[in-house]
Amino acid sequence: MEFRDLKQQYQLHKKEIDTAIQSVLNNTDFISGSKVSQLESELAEYVGVEHCITCANGTDALQLALMAWDIGISDAVFVPDFTFFSSAEVVSFAGATPIFVDIDEETYNIDPKSLEIAIDYVIKNTSLRPKVIVAVDLFGQPADFGRIRQIAEQYELLILEDGAQGFGGRIGSQKACSFGDIATTSFFPAKPLGCYGDGGAVFTDNDAWAELVRSYCVHGKGKDKYDNVRIGMNSRLDTLQAAVLIEKLKFFDNEVMQCNQIAKAYTKRLKEFVKVPIVKEGMYSSWAQYTIRFQDGEERERAIAGLKENHIPSAIYYRKPMHIQKVFEENKYNKLDYSIAERTCDCCLSLPMHPYLDSAKEVENIVGVLRSYL
Ligand SMILES: *Cc1c(COP(=O)(O)O)cnc(C)c1O
Repeated sequence: MEFRDLKQQYQLHKKEIDTAIQSVLNNTDFISGSKVSQLESELAEYVGVEHCITCANGTDALQLALMAWDIGISDAVFVPDFTFFSSAEVVSFAGATPIFVDIDEETYNIDPKSLEIAIDYVIKNTSLRPKVIVAVDLFGQPADFGRIRQIAEQYELLILEDGAQGFGGRIGSQKACSFGDIATTSFFPAKPLGCYGDGGAVFTDNDAWAELVRSYCVHGKGKDKYDNVRIGMNSRLDTLQAAVLIEKLKFFDNEVMQCNQIAKAYTKRLKEFVKVPIVKEGMYSSWAQYTIRFQDGEERERAIAGLKENHIPSAIYYRKPMHIQKVFEENKYNKLDYSIAERTCDCCLSLPMHPYLDSAKEVENIVGVLRSYL
């Protein structure tokens, strides 16, 4: 059993994907080929925003957004304490200060109440200027953008939606990666929409920011890449990856739907004896991860050992909250309450989740093993 089965997906769609790859080889337009702009239009239309700019990975996408907003020294950027490192790494890389915020116990996403406390704290106790909220769509479920937007307006902050795990999710009929003033995603192979290497994208409705991101991702180009008007980076999605993604986008909605079926099957069988992930009313998750919580770390260790003995993979996303990562230890502003993030790190476990998991047989087996070890 695979944690995320990319082999089955490829076997099922081998013909179309091979043909798409071969056509790039025939054209040898490996960088900035026509498939890249085709993919950008398709992604913008899928998400429902004006602009999509692809780039080399999801981390660069976040960094490009902060560059477009000129975020730097003495700026405060609010980041959930429970997320992948990139969400905070780019803030420090830009010279700004990440202020970590506790999460909601049920959704694992940034908690709006804790967010307000953190903003007030920064205003009252530091000389930093609050600028940006990084709202992560963790494990596939969009963050609480209704509340987050209100808070952003009240304090005049920008929202950067980190949709690396959220692509394919929605709130009502509005798609993930359309909620932030700028949103980003990642096409790392294990993400909901993954390519065959590294890839990422930036989404926005704002013409000026889109223009800046297009410049920053190709050496700060002006008219072309030999006309350099600002310091940028070299961050492009290559044409082979674009070709793969165009094919995968065709069956993507179907895959997300299948993941939702599997999540439902897990939840139905697991909810009696572990804490199952909660998808809030009106939210639709793309199920980047199916993450449960045990009573404590000891119970989790027993479960992991039992699964391992039965050749069932599992993973801990995430073992350490951001505020105690070594590199952030010295950040003197992160003295807020992180008890939910801390507790979650101690007792969470992600189970196999992908569209090709057999919801009757394999899910039944995983649940049976868990049950017998608890
Ligand atoms: C994977 C991930 C990223 C980074 O994406 P890469 O393409 O690996 O650089 C950023 N944020 C979150 C929440 C992620 O899960």
